[in-house]
Amino acid sequence: RPRVLSGIQPTAGSFHLGNYLGAVRQWVALQESHDAFYMVVDLHAITVPQEPADLRANTRLATAQLLAAGLDPERCTLFVQSHVPEHAQLAWIMNCLTGFGEASRMTQFKDKSARQGSDRASVGLFTYPILQVADILLYQANEVPVGEDQRQHIELTRDLAERFNGRFGETFTVPKPYILKETAKIFDLQDPSIKMSKSASTPKGLINLLDDPKATAKKVKSAVTDTDTVIRYDTDLKPGVSNLLTIYSTLTRTGVAELEEKYAGKGYGALKTDLAEVMVDFVTPFRERTQQYLDDPETLDSILAKGAEKARAVAGETLAQAYDRVGFLPAK
Ligand code: ATP
Ligand code: MG
Repeated sequence: RPRVLSGIQPTAGSFHLGNYLGAVRQWVALQESHDAFYMVVDLHAITVPQEPADLRANTRLATAQLLAAGLDPERCTLFVQSHVPEHAQLAWIMNCLTGFGEASRMTQFKDKSARQGSDRASVGLFTYPILQVADILLYQANEVPVGEDQRQHIELTRDLAERFNGRFGETFTVPKPYILKETAKIFDLQDPSIKMSKSASTPKGLINLLDDPKATAKKVKSAVTDTDTVIRYDTDLKPGVSNLLTIYSTLTRTGVAELEEKYAGKGYGALKTDLAEVMVDFVTPFRERTQQYLDDPETLDSILAKGAEKARAVAGETLAQAYDRVGFLPAK
């Protein structure tokens, strides 16, 4: 079975609709066909300041949401990044193989540091794409299911894997991005020119899966569209409407063309009312399942303990090989 690896940050508490449609939904599907490793990336979370108690609680909360979304610990390896020290260890080697200019070109860093003010942005934020390289290479992943915003980091991963292999001998699998076209980028409901994001969305434009379903329905109904009335998928001329069609289409597994037909001659109000209902039907059981997992922290922690053990077996082997290739003297 080919291997996949991906991760999600335990920041902001709730996952948002972009996380689910762009990434987590694919994770659930891929555990059936792939040897799948999924992690809650707490090392990435601290690239921006986190309250320790919140970080701990949000790490369990992220795990509960992943299980609620359909990850099955019998079918995939689910773990917390900081439980596997090899991530930080391999990241150091990768840091030393990356050019400063190369790292400076990462657009996610540029966006995120600009939002924080470049003086306040941490060096960790600057090097987080390189930690991500280590995350992926440790597991010899063939594919990495992520949203479009991560494409550049997968490119960097490929470059560094090839660079290491070229310099020190075949060591790492060169991974490919696994990005589904339809859901590669879910947009903010108030500003369909920016991606829905934990850190950058406007509150009204962000659909948090754990919010009160009534509030979610309200956000859908007040989504920004355009001054036209025609319901048509056209990302250039009608980005707001197209985003709603994408969400509707993927949540109900109905083709966009079919939806265009269904809403021919009807206004935006009808589309939004129906989509609000679809969304409520999706988030209501998701919230309940998440709460059930949260109510049983011992089970959560034991799932994560087993996951960490499986992950360390693979990561340890890769790291030992990388240490050897680089020329580190083995400890006796
Ligand atoms: P931040 O803005 O702090 O980076 P985030 O909203 O991007 O947070 P992450 O935990 O960084 O959330 O991302 C988890 C996964 O969700 C990644 O694979 C990312 O590509 C995907 N993702 C995030 N936002 C979207 C979106 N709007 N559309 C599609 N995929 C997304
Ligand atoms: Mg992100």
